[in-house]
Amino acid sequence: MSLAGIRHWVFDMDGTLTVAVHDFAAIRVALNIPPEDDILTHLAALPAAEAQAKHAWLLEHERDLAIASQPAEGAVELVRELAGRGVQLGILTRNARELAHVTLEAIGLADCFPVDSILGRDEAPPKPHPGGLLKLAEAWAVDPAQMVMVGDYRFDLDCGRAAGTRTVLVNLPDNPWPELADWHAADCRALRDLLS
Ligand SMILES: [Mg+2]
Repeated sequence: MSLAGIRHWVFDMDGTLTVAVHDFAAIRVALNIPPEDDILTHLAALPAAEAQAKHAWLLEHERDLAIASQPAEGAVELVRELAGRGVQLGILTRNARELAHVTLEAIGLADCFPVDSILGRDEAPPKPHPGGLLKLAEAWAVDPAQMVMVGDYRFDLDCGRAAGTRTVLVNLPDNPWPELADWHAADCRALRDLLS
């Protein structure tokens, strides 16, 4: 199947549609999380009160980042092109759904993604778990093989492979994971060029 023939696209958000601004090292220091630990996994294992307080801090910190979001190179044009072709669009992010919406508003793409098709960390298990993609496949009533997952990190590709979707790696000049990515584009502008 050609990329242009795929009618169901799911995007990672941070670092894929936006310029990555999360300073994960600073977040770990602020929340007293060891450098080698996954942030959400670490928080999930804490006593309830401490987990809740740290989640609240994270949400506030991320809200400031969301409001100041900048679109990644070519991302707005790519998504508008796909929306114009009538492609079904979704977001699968480890961010919170509400903040994903704030972010999409900030970069001018909120109207392209129905809220039901934005899965955040409270709607789906974190990538690389395939649950989010499978949930969208069910909601859209399509076979995962008819879908493509677009992201800037290995987890996005692993998630797509696990769910049985096609995969696209963007926003890295080279592709460190050729066995995981069906297509690779240096940025969303180059990805849009692959459609024509
Ligand atoms: Mg990302």
